[in-house]
Amino acid sequence: MEYVLQTSGLTKKYGRTRALDALTANVPKGAIYGLVGRNGAGKTTLLRVVCGLSLPTAGEYTLFGVGCGSRKITDVRRRVGAVIEAPAIYSDMSAEENLRQMCISLGMPSYERIPEVLSAVGLADTGKKRAGKFSLGMRQRLGIAAALIGDPDLLILDEPMNGLDPQGIIEMRELILRLNRERRVTVLLSSHILDELSRVATHYGFIDGGRMLKEISADELERSLCKCVRVEVSDTKLLAAVLDAFGVEYRINSEREADILGELSVSRLAEALGGAGCELYALHERDESLEGYFINLLGGAV
Ligand code: ATP
Repeated sequence: MEYVLQTSGLTKKYGRTRALDALTANVPKGAIYGLVGRNGAGKTTLLRVVCGLSLPTAGEYTLFGVGCGSRKITDVRRRVGAVIEAPAIYSDMSAEENLRQMCISLGMPSYERIPEVLSAVGLADTGKKRAGKFSLGMRQRLGIAAALIGDPDLLILDEPMNGLDPQGIIEMRELILRLNRERRVTVLLSSHILDELSRVATHYGFIDGGRMLKEISADELERSLCKCVRVEVSDTKLLAAVLDAFGVEYRINSEREADILGELSVSRLAEALGGAGCELYALHERDESLEGYFINLLGGAV
């Protein structure tokens, strides 16, 4: 497999804090790679280091096969577009003027890509309207337009869905999918909204405490998400005793709700619960969510 980005032993220390702790990540070419981690896991630090905004304390990474210590790394960075934290936008300028400004700072000889990029992010019709008057979703998309102006092969987005309303989230999702499918841009993004991430990501990197807990493709993840049966009963303590006797794995969610993770016949369960004086109110099959998978990876603590 060809990788756009690979990190090895990547470490970033801030005083005693290890924001990245010997982190290994592999972003395949053509992927939409979702970084998943709770607050402070190291997601932004990783994106900043990869973009050259921050130097690693130890370890290394390669971008498009070029090592971070190589002189060629500056050239290769031109193939990367990024929006990290708030996009750099001039509020008193229109979308087009903002992109002209971006072309100037990138030393681009012409503005010819601007109409195409504005149309790719759905801002072609904003005319003279100043960016300060844009909605948050429009500002985010303008930030992405600025990142796209240099025609990057890798787009890095830190929490692109943050603060967007449902419509803005849908537009952002469609934009990311379109850039990936039609322009073959590899996307590396972080997001707190796991459900949203699962609608776009082809690969995941789960990180915690600056370490990579697991890298997995969306297909592999789909196969490994356990199918469980959620039950509502009058008393999950009685349910737990019954399930222990059957030797079946389970997870208690509340006094009345639990997930049964192993195979068990419904009639045997109902009969045993009846014998134990526990009422069974409801039972339905459900797929473990991405969130559930992540919580399990973290050992149940979030
Ligand atoms: P969030 O989702 O909250 O943005 P994150 O996963 O992006 O979190 P980082 O911002 O990378 O996490 O932070 C990782 C750790 O490094 C945190 O403990 C944070 O406090 C610390 N950290 C990040 N930047 C700095 C800095 N400039 N100085 C000191 N500590 C920092």
